[in-house]
Amino acid sequence: MSEPQSPRTSMTDAVTTGGAEILTSSATDLVAAMEAGQLSSVEITQACLDRIEAVDRQVHAFLTVDAERALRQAREVDSRRAAGQRLGPLAGVPLAVKDLFCYQGMVTTAASRMLAGWVSPYTSTVVQRCVDAGMVILGKTNLDEFAMGSSTETSAFGPTHNPWDLERIPGGSGGGSAAALAAFQAPLALGTDTGGSIRLPAALTGTVGVKPTYGGTSRYGVIAMASSLDQPGPCARTVADAALLHQVIAGYDPMDQTSIPRDVPPVVEACRQIDLAGMRLGVVTGLSGQGYAPGVTQRFEEAVAALRGAGAAGIEGACPHCAHALGAYYLIQPAEVSSNLARYDAMRYGLRLDDDGEHSAEQVMAASRGAGFGAEAKRRIILGTYALSSGYYDAYYGSAQKVRTLISRDFEAAWATCDALISPTTPTTAFRIGERTDDPLAMYQADLCTIPANLAGIATGSFPAGLAPEDGLPVGLQVMAPVLCDDRVYRVGAALEAQLEAAWGGPLLASIPPLGAAAKEDVR
Ligand code: GLN
Repeated sequence: MSEPQSPRTSMTDAVTTGGAEILTSSATDLVAAMEAGQLSSVEITQACLDRIEAVDRQVHAFLTVDAERALRQAREVDSRRAAGQRLGPLAGVPLAVKDLFCYQGMVTTAASRMLAGWVSPYTSTVVQRCVDAGMVILGKTNLDEFAMGSSTETSAFGPTHNPWDLERIPGGSGGGSAAALAAFQAPLALGTDTGGSIRLPAALTGTVGVKPTYGGTSRYGVIAMASSLDQPGPCARTVADAALLHQVIAGYDPMDQTSIPRDVPPVVEACRQIDLAGMRLGVVTGLSGQGYAPGVTQRFEEAVAALRGAGAAGIEGACPHCAHALGAYYLIQPAEVSSNLARYDAMRYGLRLDDDGEHSAEQVMAASRGAGFGAEAKRRIILGTYALSSGYYDAYYGSAQKVRTLISRDFEAAWATCDALISPTTPTTAFRIGERTDDPLAMYQADLCTIPANLAGIATGSFPAGLAPEDGLPVGLQVMAPVLCDDRVYRVGAALEAQLEAAWGGPLLASIPPLGAAAKEDVR
């Protein structure tokens, strides 16, 4: 017998009355309210679904919403709670999932025409852990096609709009997940980060995003892009919420050959240690200065001062080879893409065109790949195939791998004097939709600060650092820590959050701003 459904609130109700409080609450507070019997998961889920219905035509954060399944999961967790069962720390909390994660019975597209309408026959480990923890899956969020991009504009289904200014991009590739948080459509979301796809959207939407140590979260069931770099991670509005989700999704998985058989670093505990006394923070030289927007530089310097205020010792952190990270990444990443995307051959699954008995298998494949992949996917397949071809392999792919080793050694050397490193997350605030689509190199520049951490496999995250005075748009601070020291990323993030919120008198994303109205007068 199913539980009675709570009455469906209208959009106005959801925003102006009790719904607004639900929508702006952290996951931590929502769980406390459910535990206290003040709220049910059905009420919370319905508020999110109503919000999605009201604003997603403008934001386009979601590609798929499954209200029925979400409400079924919510009712289930409500009855388990009512029966006195001990539930996990995020039970009953709604989650938005980047459409790169397989979830059985739900369409998974990777935002590509190649997979339009494809229903996952199995569930990724990360999503399964969320379901097992009693979380409610709202649906799938938009991304750059196969997670290639920095703006969510290469999605075959249209771009996502930044809730702070609807004419601007939310960052990429996981712009849908970050926008869903910033538009208060969901309290938590999942992302994947190959070169910055969790951190960049977090920075540009004023939210939190963490890329765990490579091997810290399972890639099983995540559509592969560049396998030596891809890493799932949590997206949230608060540091503590991100840590709770990290704790749920992380840990060894025998289904992923690169999964690390070690305990999850104490990320939740780390959020309570907001005193940074004794911590040596290295400010990465070379990832700031010329080419960085004035507001990014200003908020970054203020963040450094705030972290010093929390007790950290600020020192210089040298990473001389970081300057070459972008070049190395855009050879290694396309090389892996060219191999991973070869599976879309129109024979096994995905788009199949011209299969009419007249055309050869090769012609069917060519027609399907020609129509199924967008321009950026094709560009990378061609680039990667070229870089891997015999005769060029040593000059391009081989050299890039050597640079990758040098970058890892830079970080190793830095850890001798620094406990963690910091930099801006990205050189500018959110740019306008269409501004960089014709200039791939300008687009790639957005990843300048985020890529080194992926090449080295270290833990890293982006945290809100305020709004740039010139345009009122969010700026992010990036924290990097050694392999399996993910807890340090959270410790620094939580300290920054505490310092800045004390100065601002509340969180950056405290209340629902009118969509698209960057808080120009109230520049924090
Ligand atoms: N912007 C980078 C790229 O286009 C990173 C993408 C990602 O992290 N998935 O490859």
